[in-house]
Amino acid sequence: MATKKSNTIKLKFDSSRNLAPAPESKSAAKINSRYDLFINGKFEKPSGKKYFDTINPATEEKLSEVAEANEADVNKAVKAARDAYDKVWKKMPAKERAKYIYRIARMVQERAREFSVIETLDGGKPIRESRDFDVPTAANHFFYYAGWADKLEYAFPNRNVEPLGVAGQIIPWNFPLLMAAWKIAPALATGNTVVLKPAETTPLTALKLAEIIEEADLPPGVVNIITGAGATGAAIVNHPDVNKIAFTGSTDVGKIIQRAIANTNKKATLELGGKAANIIFDDAPLDQAVEGVINGIFFNQGHVCCAGSRLYVQESVYKTVLRKLKDRMESLIVGDPMDKNTDIGAINSRSQLEVINKYLKIGQQEGAEMYQTACSIPKKGFFCRPTIFTNVAQSNRIAQEEIFGPVLTIQTFRTDDEVIEKANNTPFGLSAGVWTDKGSKIFNMTTKLRAGVVWANTYNKFDPTSPFGGYKESGYGREGGLHGLNAYVSLV
Ligand code: ADP
Repeated sequence: MATKKSNTIKLKFDSSRNLAPAPESKSAAKINSRYDLFINGKFEKPSGKKYFDTINPATEEKLSEVAEANEADVNKAVKAARDAYDKVWKKMPAKERAKYIYRIARMVQERAREFSVIETLDGGKPIRESRDFDVPTAANHFFYYAGWADKLEYAFPNRNVEPLGVAGQIIPWNFPLLMAAWKIAPALATGNTVVLKPAETTPLTALKLAEIIEEADLPPGVVNIITGAGATGAAIVNHPDVNKIAFTGSTDVGKIIQRAIANTNKKATLELGGKAANIIFDDAPLDQAVEGVINGIFFNQGHVCCAGSRLYVQESVYKTVLRKLKDRMESLIVGDPMDKNTDIGAINSRSQLEVINKYLKIGQQEGAEMYQTACSIPKKGFFCRPTIFTNVAQSNRIAQEEIFGPVLTIQTFRTDDEVIEKANNTPFGLSAGVWTDKGSKIFNMTTKLRAGVVWANTYNKFDPTSPFGGYKESGYGREGGLHGLNAYVSLV
């Protein structure tokens, strides 16, 4: 299709990125040189006496070292959680439980700056995102579920609501504090106690949260936070006295967990990978849609399970959308996550950067056309330019497998049925986005897209009151909202 001349005028962006640096100060972050395990209300040395480093992925400098919990430590943490459940938490009036959760929420707010800085240093995400999204949303989760604690009979009318017991919670590295809040807040509100393990590359904000929990005088053992890698997570999953597993992470580990608990009474919620379709119809407001695509795939470096990583554009507007998208991409600043101008920070780890680079090669070998912006990236640290692939086939691995980086595939479609078929043609089913001016089209799409969350004319919007979760290989169970309570109770 011939593009009108007016459409081909390129917007001019400052390609030298000559914005004055606007660095956030590190001074707000008090990071200890070493962290022990938070068990039974106090920090304890790991029984194997082993520690591992956590680094800043933007500079590759060591930030701290954290304890590696072995099976004996997991046993201790689960025992502390069981004792706290039996002797204190289960018996405590719900409105008293709520007070503790409100207290944690307020303390997270009071120390928001410190949390944001540590989140960015430890994980690589832009400070703007930790400050404006991760930390406030984490506090909101505590506030929201604190409100439910003494109202469970309204959440489940005419039912006897019982907690499950000890919840083993394993979280990933993309939203470390927020995932801890997603897991801990509903568990406590419903009367369960917790053993939580943060991801090995991003343990620091969970350990800060442990400090807050200690200061908040939460009864010892109600929340235990232990650090370690996959083996520590597996020990939690396999522990016979854990009643519920809440896991967010990769589909591969989700499958391992599913197998491990298959013969047990453990309840589980698994929030796994995704490969979301973001769909632009020709009647959509294209500038807003392009903004939504940028947010959908480049937010948090694309380390988002619900990232809009497959873009489908109706053929008649394809060229216009592609031009607008490339123009907008050129304005993205990749670099120091602590700089408030930065749009795309550091990739979380060297190994994740290797995964992304592997997929960039695979995409090109598969015959897709790769486009990256011309921006400069720091020499040290783990960085990836915003990337799009065109000329993509539905069967290509880059269109089927989760990359978990700032990499977008773009395909076209002509009809609603065609795009529904293509959007659903993936092993995952976590989220999707639809951009159109027509309400009827939105309803048609949302009923036919097999995705747990479908955003219409927006993307990546989160709220504690909204349930979140997937279909198919994206896992099962819902977190957030009223549905999120359900995962932590038995209804009699
Ligand atoms: P990612 O690919 O995003 O790193 P993972 O699924 O490997 O995601 O990790 C998510 C969380 O699961 C991390 O806290 C990690 O330590 C933990 N984990 C890894 N392997 C296992 C396992 N076999 N059992 C339980 N937890 C695990």
